[in-house]
Amino acid sequence: MSHSTVAGLPLIPSGGIDLGGTKIEARLFGPDLTTVVHRRVPTPTDSFASFLSALADQVRWLEDRSGCGADLPVGIGLPGTIDPDTGACFAANIPISGQSLRASLGERLGRMLPLLNDAQAFTLSEAYGGAAADIDSTVGLIIGTGIGAGFTHRGTAVSGRNGGALEIGHLPIPATAQAKFDLPLWPCGCGGTGCYETYLSARGLERLGRHTGANTDAPALVEQARAQVPAALRAMEIWAALMVELLHLIQLSIDPQMIVLGGGMSQIPDLATRLQHAAGQRQLGQIQKAAIAIARFGDTSGARGAAVLALRSWPERAF
Ligand SMILES: [Zn+2]
Repeated sequence: MSHSTVAGLPLIPSGGIDLGGTKIEARLFGPDLTTVVHRRVPTPTDSFASFLSALADQVRWLEDRSGCGADLPVGIGLPGTIDPDTGACFAANIPISGQSLRASLGERLGRMLPLLNDAQAFTLSEAYGGAAADIDSTVGLIIGTGIGAGFTHRGTAVSGRNGGALEIGHLPIPATAQAKFDLPLWPCGCGGTGCYETYLSARGLERLGRHTGANTDAPALVEQARAQVPAALRAMEIWAALMVELLHLIQLSIDPQMIVLGGGMSQIPDLATRLQHAAGQRQLGQIQKAAIAIARFGDTSGARGAAVLALRSWPERAF
């Protein structure tokens, strides 16, 4: 299925950059937001200066390849937070913490580019031509090496005062679930214990596997559960029950129309259907549950969502 236009966005080319701990990926999109060309370079991790040079180089490559030069809207998604007052960024795996990336890059390029958190970029991407197209309120939930979440309302990413809205992977699981499955409270990278992320990420599923006696990696565990191996089945059962708790938390706090799942763990076969069914049994009154869908754009979401942000904020005088 292809879309010739994406509702509400100008019909011009755009660029998106997805920053990660190992690569800086630049994607040039056509007016229909499909990828024209992309380029990955390794993320320099030794200093902010070398990181900034590599990033500026990727932006200029997009400008050149588009033929639009500095008239190309370009947005940047990053795995961290951006202070709304100072612009200071905080990211675990990229040497930008404490730096105002937007201002420094703006100085280098002679123009300011919009930045956003990568989970928000994921959600924005799905809201424009993706699984959540034409949906008013959507929560995007990425379950992979960690947990990230974003919220869009009527096409706008809502991030809260500190850009930290929906850092729900670092809330602890409910005491009821912990007691029911006799779960250990594992320490988390954030400094807390018993965070959702320590159970639901790919490594979390492996921990659950060790807890139930299935000592293997996440993909093998999913396979074994499908083959009805009891220990793997039990680990998946606990994982799914905790996923339902997290969905319930989103339901009761945000009450979105749709929850779009992304990240490696969203590729578990029939996940959306199974969770929709299980979540239906976790009911409070007669509320309408959020629909659960799997992301349409997968790995391109970070760059695509950043491009959407750039297009949305592109001045009308440009065309
Ligand atoms: Zn945590």
